[in-house]
Amino acid sequence: MSRFRRTAQLTARKTLAWASRPARWDVWTTVRPRWLVYALASEVGAVVLAVFGLVTESGRSDVGWFSVLLVLGVAQAEMSSRIERMRRWMGGQTHINVTSVWYLAGAVLLDPGWVALLSAALYLHLWFRVWRHVRSRPVHRIVASTAWAVLSCLAASYVVRAVGLGGPADTPGMGGRGTAIVLTAAVVFEVVNALVVSTGIYLYTRERSVSDLFGTWEDNVLELVTLCLGGLTALALVYQPVLVLLVLPPLMLLHRHVLLKQLEIAAATDEKTGLLNTTGWHRLATRELARVGRTSGATLGVLMIDLDHFKRINDTYGHLAGDVVLKEVATAIGTAVRAYDSVGRFGGEEFVVLLPEVSEAAVVVVAERIRAAISGLTVRVDLGEAPVRVTGLSASIGVAIYPDAGTAVERLLASADAALYRAKSTGRNKVVSGS
Ligand code: GH3
Ligand code: MG
Ligand code: MG
Repeated sequence: MSRFRRTAQLTARKTLAWASRPARWDVWTTVRPRWLVYALASEVGAVVLAVFGLVTESGRSDVGWFSVLLVLGVAQAEMSSRIERMRRWMGGQTHINVTSVWYLAGAVLLDPGWVALLSAALYLHLWFRVWRHVRSRPVHRIVASTAWAVLSCLAASYVVRAVGLGGPADTPGMGGRGTAIVLTAAVVFEVVNALVVSTGIYLYTRERSVSDLFGTWEDNVLELVTLCLGGLTALALVYQPVLVLLVLPPLMLLHRHVLLKQLEIAAATDEKTGLLNTTGWHRLATRELARVGRTSGATLGVLMIDLDHFKRINDTYGHLAGDVVLKEVATAIGTAVRAYDSVGRFGGEEFVVLLPEVSEAAVVVVAERIRAAISGLTVRVDLGEAPVRVTGLSASIGVAIYPDAGTAVERLLASADAALYRAKSTGRNKVVSGS
């Protein structure tokens, strides 16, 4: 028996065993009910609309386009499976999906039922070849993402046909019409995709920042590049099919660029808390100081925060519980500051915050707010045995202000550290200003 067949059989057996015991799926206990309702509704909606499309469309000409796009999508995924595996292995929120190239081409060329089938098939292939080897994403999220991709493709294909543009294959030599079809499909695909995915992220994580919900500027530029390639793919297939091969090299390059971007972010991120790490914070602070240096009269605050008697938390509840507390403290600090303030973790249980464009009085107010937030925390730690609630946390905070305390990052940090030392030596759980 070939290795491939053996792997397929093993996977099928494991999947069947898992599917036959729905009561044991951890999705029921680990996920917010609101997200679950939304995901199930998306999945049912995607299946119903896809089946409706397939049974109501004649679709004979679609079989050809469907097969071509499926082969291209599978070939591209196979060629770049190592890159995709690394991307997934690194985890984190990924807003870019280079497979959108085939989705958009499908939305232009195929009737809704067929493009739904195409997107589901490409997702299934990626899951089988890449994602199931990397446990960074649970199955329920992959299924929901598939449904959202299917819904976006369905919407684009339906709208293109509903506004009477038809598929480009119906109108050879149509001039500007091909462009209108591609643009309409791209806009509908992107808008629907952004809405359904960001709603999913919001319900899953309660994240509210625009970049977490919709991706950064750079994510969106990359998504735009993917859609451009998708549009060109569709037009190439209609007018000169062999030209579609020219889409593959830039697509591979784009995929590699997305991986590099993810590596760059990972290199500046503290794995435990998701905050900036020392290197990332330092780089950002240096850039911010250079900017402030060019503006006369500008001030800037640096806070150094150290949790009080944190060793006791580890000694009482264990190191893993200590890690959960660190994550909660990181979230509390992030919530207490503005979106453009930079929070970092300097290893251990020490955090740093950069507050641009604030007066000394305002910096101390923010520091007080952070101190109060930490001392008001109740952290629920559930590591499998009896859950515990950790309370009684506190932190000491040292404050340094630019330019009084110094104009270089190192000087400001040294000044904040000296202030922190004074906070510790005069009773802890307080804010001390160094300037
Ligand atoms: P204080 O700062 O009030 O003087 O007392 P402390 O007990 O917090 O002392 P210190 O800041 O020197 O101790 C740091 C402790 O934090 C030591 C270590 O047990 C714990 N720690 C450092 N890094 C981590 C981590 O990543 N996870 C956990 N759980 N604990 C950590
Ligand atoms: Mg400490
Ligand atoms: Mg410490």
